[in-house]
Amino acid sequence: MKLQAVKGMNDLLPPATALWQHVEATARALFGRYGFQEVRTPMVEATELFVRSVGEVTDIVGKEMYTFTDKGDRSITLRPEGTAPAARAYIEHNVGNLEPLTRWFYLGPMFRYERMKTGRYRQFHQLGAEAYGTLDPAQDVELIALVAAFFRVLGVPDVTLHLNTLGDGSTRPAYLAALKAHFEPLVAQMSDDAKLAFERNTMRLLDSKEAALQEAIAAAPAIVDFLDEGSKAHFDDVRRLLAKLELPYVLDRRLVRGLDYYTRTTFEFVYAPAGDNALGTAGTVCGGGRYDRLVHDLGGPEKPAVGFAMGLDRLVLLLEKLRAPKREGPLLFIGTFDGPERDDALALVMRLRDAGHFVDFDPRGGKLGKQKERASKVGARFFAGYGGDEHASRTLKVDDLSAPKDAPRSEHVSLEALAGWLSKEAQTA
Ligand code: ATP
Ligand code: MG
Repeated sequence: MKLQAVKGMNDLLPPATALWQHVEATARALFGRYGFQEVRTPMVEATELFVRSVGEVTDIVGKEMYTFTDKGDRSITLRPEGTAPAARAYIEHNVGNLEPLTRWFYLGPMFRYERMKTGRYRQFHQLGAEAYGTLDPAQDVELIALVAAFFRVLGVPDVTLHLNTLGDGSTRPAYLAALKAHFEPLVAQMSDDAKLAFERNTMRLLDSKEAALQEAIAAAPAIVDFLDEGSKAHFDDVRRLLAKLELPYVLDRRLVRGLDYYTRTTFEFVYAPAGDNALGTAGTVCGGGRYDRLVHDLGGPEKPAVGFAMGLDRLVLLLEKLRAPKREGPLLFIGTFDGPERDDALALVMRLRDAGHFVDFDPRGGKLGKQKERASKVGARFFAGYGGDEHASRTLKVDDLSAPKDAPRSEHVSLEALAGWLSKEAQTA
């Protein structure tokens, strides 16, 4: 049997991993500046956590979860998303009682048994943020501003913010009644999935991709017309603040998101370039919103919360299209000779590395010309051989590999001065 990775789960290989590291490092730096601290929760949770939070009649819980029974006969699920685990940890560690306002971010793999295509995998990666402890619209907008800043810093163009509100639930019964009346005549034509959504979670129909329903979805009543006073004021404040921060958005009355726990503000960032969409139908790179009842519903204190989750695989796909990832080469490549000085050459390599420089050598050794070719191939900037003569004179002849073949450049640098010389060269790179 040929061994292969499990379907829908990707190996991330160099040089693409350099791009992942860049995205992750950028996130850690930026999120830190916004006052968000990292939380890391286990990859698996009790199945019940997702059933109770994400909701039974959702795509995720209904058909996408990796659920199994462990040896202790417990039902365990590979986490399909990060908000419920974070809320579970927030409650379990009593964080709400220790500090009034909590801002967390997380980064890591999620698992959903989905039909694969571009930008849709069974193991994928999310970067998410959660803010617990305030109902203030400024918190919603700060999170949206954070996502916008992240795309800006990474240089991702053509991402549009879609915005909607789901109200606070107090007026939802009236809205659901109107929605039910609207879809009622179509029930006979619905798939079993849609029928179930109609019966048990009617709002989910607005999220349906079924062709037969698209016309009715477009004409469906919108929740903004059913808002209670508090939710309306909240939404107005969010919009006013977005305008103040000059963050453009489109109002999207059908944006309901695929999870049950959302209330009030919901938003998505959608990649929609004028021409070809590199992400195909998987254009949504980030989704988020408020979930003011989630912490309480999971057994915690009354703590309103707002957050988002971003799909990093989709983001990296975009970045790969914008600029091909490139392997960074060593600053200096040391060529070695067989003989007693090889050990000294190795010691020099390690010493320069300890001094903070990317210095490399080839453990296979061989002819010096061959080693120099390899140095060029891995993108080294300088090359120097270290043998008996160099060892005796305490000086290396350093070749500049970026010089044209017909005008070679090299410089003699003493072993003593080498680390300082490399520091200077690294700065002028
Ligand atoms: P979609 O409508 O595309 O299925 P979703 O509503 O299921 O998205 P969320 O649960 O909101 O997605 O997850 C947030 C983000 O995570 C998405 O906007 C997307 O970028 C990413 N994401 C979700 N599922 C996958 C997947 N299977 N593969 C890759 N990225 C994903
Ligand atoms: Mg989905």
